[in-house]
Amino acid sequence: MPTIFTHPAVALAAAPWFRRIPRSLLILGVVCSALPDIDTTSFAFGIPYEHPLGHRGVTHSLLFALLLAVCAAAAYRRYSRDAVTFRVACLFLFIVIASHGILDAMTNGGKGIGFFIPFSSHRFFFPFRPIEVSPIGASDFADEAGPVLLSEARWVWLPGLFICGAGFVWQRVKACQGAATIFRCKRSLHSSGSMTTPKRR
Ligand SMILES: [Zn+2]
Repeated sequence: MPTIFTHPAVALAAAPWFRRIPRSLLILGVVCSALPDIDTTSFAFGIPYEHPLGHRGVTHSLLFALLLAVCAAAAYRRYSRDAVTFRVACLFLFIVIASHGILDAMTNGGKGIGFFIPFSSHRFFFPFRPIEVSPIGASDFADEAGPVLLSEARWVWLPGLFICGAGFVWQRVKACQGAATIFRCKRSLHSSGSMTTPKRR
């Protein structure tokens, strides 16, 4: 898996592509992006890696991403005063949570991802796996942190930065197009006389 520091990169990169993601929803996305790795606790219960409940199993599936996104978005709508619709919150959270398994499937170690559990227990990797896998234990991670973080910076944070920047540009272009349309409408109304003040008789 990429480290717990890197999964949130997707939330930060995806947010600008939406018209408005409030800070509270962004923080929820950051937290949710790392939640699938809660399955590392399965080792403590003696559940094998390959088991559907094992690491990279059901909590990395698309179904889990959908259910967690729906529940988190519903809770967000219930307790937040921000004017974000359930649909937008749900879509943002689904992208962020589902991206966890996608990034894991691009790592060069561990076992594949159970994207379709419980419908299929097959584990998947992508053909392109440039991300250095992060060790699960904290002591092992301390030994290998350098190359792992360097690899994540190159393959996740750097592309994420470009995607984030492109999102800001996209929103700016849309805003300019909207402003231009309003300006054209006003001008055409003005020239047709619809906006002139009626004279008193
Ligand atoms: Zn993971």
